[in-house]
Amino acid sequence: MLTLHLKISINFMENLIFATHNAHKLQEVSAMLENQVNLLGLSELGFYEEIPETADTLQENALQKAQFVKEKTGCGCFADDTGLEVDALNGEPGVFSARYAGEPSDSEKNIDKLLKNLANKNNRSAQFRTVIVLLQDSDIQYFEGVIRGKIIKERYGNGGFGYDSVFVPDGYEKTFAELSPEEKNLISHRGQAVKKLVEFLKIKA
Ligand code: IMP
Repeated sequence: MLTLHLKISINFMENLIFATHNAHKLQEVSAMLENQVNLLGLSELGFYEEIPETADTLQENALQKAQFVKEKTGCGCFADDTGLEVDALNGEPGVFSARYAGEPSDSEKNIDKLLKNLANKNNRSAQFRTVIVLLQDSDIQYFEGVIRGKIIKERYGNGGFGYDSVFVPDGYEKTFAELSPEEKNLISHRGQAVKKLVEFLKIKA
């Protein structure tokens, strides 16, 4: 079991691990948590093992990641998984969003493949969906965030990542890549799922 000697301050706040190496995601969640828990990312813990992500659904993948980290650390933990689900493609690329055009993951190639597969489709509706799984003691909680929108035919905007430059959320005329990070977080799939997680942790605290 990994020894948690790093960053664990002598206080009475619960340690909670976010099973991610992504510093940006960690910072985003930390900012929303307002000292409810002592939130730790994997890099801070010196945890560099590759986390398995081999399941067929977002829920199972998030659960697999959270269970792996909980077993290795013995600490409460949560993990997230996100996918872009396109109606006319029967929910593809979904759980395979990161590797839609193959390995290694390449956002530009993924977008090219998506636009090609949608070229002759009239229905361009899609959604981003995030699932967060929280494991504390023997308790499992799921939190979900969804944002509906459409896939446009060309890339617009320089911000964000992944499929942001071709996704226009419903009620907006800009892509996610044209919105500021604050504007995106306020409405995004991940923002909504994190908000539900934070509310749950606040009530529990
Ligand atoms: P992850 O589960 O957050 O790593 O997301 C899996 C994949 O979904 C990423 O590699 C991106 O291709 C895509 N994705 C996730 N979140 C977003 C987003 O907010 N905007 C655009 N693409 C995203």
